[in-house]
Amino acid sequence: MILTRYRIIALAALVALSAIPVHGAGAGYKALRERMVKRQIEDRGVKNPAVLEAMKEVPRHLFVPERYRSEAYEDHPLPIGLGQTISQPYIVAFMTELLQLKPGDRVFELGTGSGYQAAVASRVAGEVFTVEIYRELAASAEARLAGHGYSNVTVREGDGYFGWEEKAPFDAIIVTAAADHIPPPLLEQLRPGGRLVIPLGGPFSVQQLVMVNKDLKGRISERGVMLVRFVPLLGH
Ligand code: SAH
Repeated sequence: MILTRYRIIALAALVALSAIPVHGAGAGYKALRERMVKRQIEDRGVKNPAVLEAMKEVPRHLFVPERYRSEAYEDHPLPIGLGQTISQPYIVAFMTELLQLKPGDRVFELGTGSGYQAAVASRVAGEVFTVEIYRELAASAEARLAGHGYSNVTVREGDGYFGWEEKAPFDAIIVTAAADHIPPPLLEQLRPGGRLVIPLGGPFSVQQLVMVNKDLKGRISERGVMLVRFVPLLGH
């Protein structure tokens, strides 16, 4: 009797597993996404409910080149062309949580890439302004974001080192390419009380992910939070 019950449970588990296609319909991807959020993100300590919800909702497989779709929910970055990458899901969630975004916040991102980080942030904040230096990437991210209803994300081609003065000040700024210093224009465009997250260090080594706070008097403080590996900042 007990054996039979175990067999039924084992069979049910098998059926459940085989119901998660790697290629295929949206429902399969949703299950992969939920598993990704549980194992790669929640189990590593990301707690902000709005960030977890956004990570469960944004269809990461639509932000990677078609030939990498089957790997979209795996625990690593993926190539997006022109030598650039879409970050590991955990890093996207971790950085978004660090920004302590609230509905209504205005966010600036340096390094649109695929548009995935901007899409996630747009689900937690009010508006996202993102700049990408490669024309091809800016154009494809813009079309992708518009096509999937991320109407509160605005993409521009350009050198994000200089921020986006006309849209400033920002409540939060996220830099998704490694720099050897914090671009001064970004500090200027950060609102008092705002947060900025940036990987600082050499282009071909690990970098320190640095959390920068600007207090209400405009004073800047910094702390390192994690070692990361990002593609280098270009331009400037
Ligand atoms: N946030 C992206 C991944 C970033 S990869 C995503 O979610 O997919 C880093 C991106 O920054 C690359 O696309 C690269 O072309 C871009 N980049 C590098 N230097 C830049 C600069 N100075 N201004 C704007 N974009 C830059």
